Amino acid sequence: AEDAAYLVSLIRSIPGFPKEGIIFRDFMPVLADAKGLHLMMKALEAALPVPAEDFDAVAGLEARGFLFGPALAAHLGKGFIAVRKAGKLPPQTIRESYDLEYGSESVEIEAEAVKPGERVLIVDDLIATGGTAAAGAELIERAGGTVVGFSFVMGLDGLNGTGKLGGRPTSVLVTMP
Ligand code: 5GP
Repeated sequence: AEDAAYLVSLIRSIPGFPKEGIIFRDFMPVLADAKGLHLMMKALEAALPVPAEDFDAVAGLEARGFLFGPALAAHLGKGFIAVRKAGKLPPQTIRESYDLEYGSESVEIEAEAVKPGERVLIVDDLIATGGTAAAGAELIERAGGTVVGFSFVMGLDGLNGTGKLGGRPTSVLVTMP
């Protein structure tokens, strides 16, 4: 509980970004803090939605899922798969479009990024509506993998983002208003 409080104390809240009425939750100070980063890895591991033996790879969502996803993958002895924003990869890619809390977005992976039957944990810094994570899961499964669950550092209260994740096991370290 002390560790959780310490992590929460490092999360920065920026009202009015990227537009009026939105409070942007920023976990960059957690990464910048030696103790914070170590505690975040331990907390994500302790809160894994499925046992670590049940997946082969961690998939991170661009961009903030790229910051701690590979760190978590290395911490757990897993591989890392990058789910990218559209337009960054050479062909052949698989693409999914979805609506975001603010705007709309598309994500892509390379067709061979996922091994047949590979079991994947999806990670991101924050779940709001759940659209990004759901699109990432769709991509991984269209590429031949199985999404066994989701791990988020933060969740936004009242948006029921996890309701979009097909009932898969999900963990959220901190819920914020
Ligand atoms: P969703 O698709 O669940 O509505 O939105 C989640 C995506 O948008 C995540 O990739 C997340 O990084 C980004 N996002 C939305 N709101 C915030 C926020 O307040 N803080 C941060 N760090 N990311 C956000």
